[in-house]
Amino acid sequence: MVIMFPSCSWKCEKDCGKRVCQNSTLANAPNIEVDPEAIVKRYMDNPLTSAIVIGGLEPFDDYRDLIELIQYFRFAKCTDDIVIYTGYTEAELKGRCFLFDLQRYSPVIIKVGRFIPDQQPHFDDLLGVRLASDNQYAIKV
Ligand code: SF4
Repeated sequence: MVIMFPSCSWKCEKDCGKRVCQNSTLANAPNIEVDPEAIVKRYMDNPLTSAIVIGGLEPFDDYRDLIELIQYFRFAKCTDDIVIYTGYTEAELKGRCFLFDLQRYSPVIIKVGRFIPDQQPHFDDLLGVRLASDNQYAIKV
């Protein structure tokens, strides 16, 4: 199941000085409020789902909502992988204690790092997918 979060501070664009974010038009789309309990029920009722992927815009910019959603999954005794795609670096997440905080909800896999344009995609073993920029990689907490 893929869940999109509604906001971002556009750090990838600010850092590289170009309009590069493929998600930027989503910021103008109307937000859809969904009760976390309803999301978890839909996930648990679906025999095909085996992991939750939380992506952008930027989930860590709505951290309280992110944690609430993850808590609902774990309270429901769901032990499947939770995968978060973020543009923050590992150091930035550590500096704000996000990684320490997320340890209690393991297994959580986080793809870290800004999108930097004009780089060769590379394969990430942990995620099993290709990532767009050299600086991006996944960690498990
Ligand atoms: S973190 Fe994601 S949504 Fe935000 S600027 Fe980077 S690519 Fe775009």
